[in-house]
Amino acid sequence: MLWKGRRQSDNVQDQRGQSGGGFNLPGGRPGQFRIPIGGRAGGGGISTIVILVVVFFALKACGIDPMQILAGGDGGLLPGGGGQITDNSGAQGTGAPASDEMKQFVSTVLAETEDTWSGIFQANGLTYEDPKLVLFSGQIRSACGFASSAAGPFYCPGDHKVYLDTTFFQQLDRQFGASGDFAQAYVIAHEVGHHVQNLTGILPKFNQMRQQMGEAQANHMSVQVELQADCFAGVWAHFTGQKGILEQGDMEEALNAAQQIGDDTMQKKMQGYVIPESFNHGTSQQRQTWLARGYRSGKLSDCDTFNTPI
Ligand SMILES: [Zn+2]
Repeated sequence: MLWKGRRQSDNVQDQRGQSGGGFNLPGGRPGQFRIPIGGRAGGGGISTIVILVVVFFALKACGIDPMQILAGGDGGLLPGGGGQITDNSGAQGTGAPASDEMKQFVSTVLAETEDTWSGIFQANGLTYEDPKLVLFSGQIRSACGFASSAAGPFYCPGDHKVYLDTTFFQQLDRQFGASGDFAQAYVIAHEVGHHVQNLTGILPKFNQMRQQMGEAQANHMSVQVELQADCFAGVWAHFTGQKGILEQGDMEEALNAAQQIGDDTMQKKMQGYVIPESFNHGTSQQRQTWLARGYRSGKLSDCDTFNTPI
């Protein structure tokens, strides 16, 4: 990805090197939306979430197609981040120096997601609210509870923040065989996809509904939520590609990452066998398919995992 020299987001809060708190709860908390490591489910119901999603997609139906506008090269519809409220009150930058390349990369990818999603929301008459992205090391306290880096990157709907320990990228490379900067960009874009789901009411509804669900049903809906976040990451990649900043092989890196972190592939690697009922992020093939689907069209309407067979 040709990211150097592009705008960097002010919404990165660097808390590396700080202790996140005195103790460590393994496995994360319900309500967190993690990338794939480990899994959990809540406690039976379904279809109100479907209605919300339909409403969201219906917003689009009653007007111009935002994608057409964005694709039309009208730079005016892709705000450069100006005018967005930035708030660094949580940033306490005692970690690595601000100049470090990983932070610059993460800040640039986050800025690209801000521009793309601001444009999409604006074209739908909505206002996008930028998420914060917290860089941490070791463990961290979020509105979703304590988490350790072992749990992988996650999005916390309660505080609208993406949490990322960048050592996860090394793990992605070495342990999961997913290398490349665009594999990393996909991880960030997936978490930002959860933020979009939060802003559009999908996550709150899911969190509420899964309290009343049986495990299998909650897992199935979790897969729908996760695959939609993958598809949203693909939509982001679509518009990023149109800016001419993707390099040959970038999308393959992202698709490979989606493959490597699929529930079936991960379970085979970690325990030698698969338990399909426990899948909560989607199989490798599903994750690749939905990422590719968003990427191909750039249309949110192609990301309706709740009303389309997955
Ligand atoms: Zn996720």
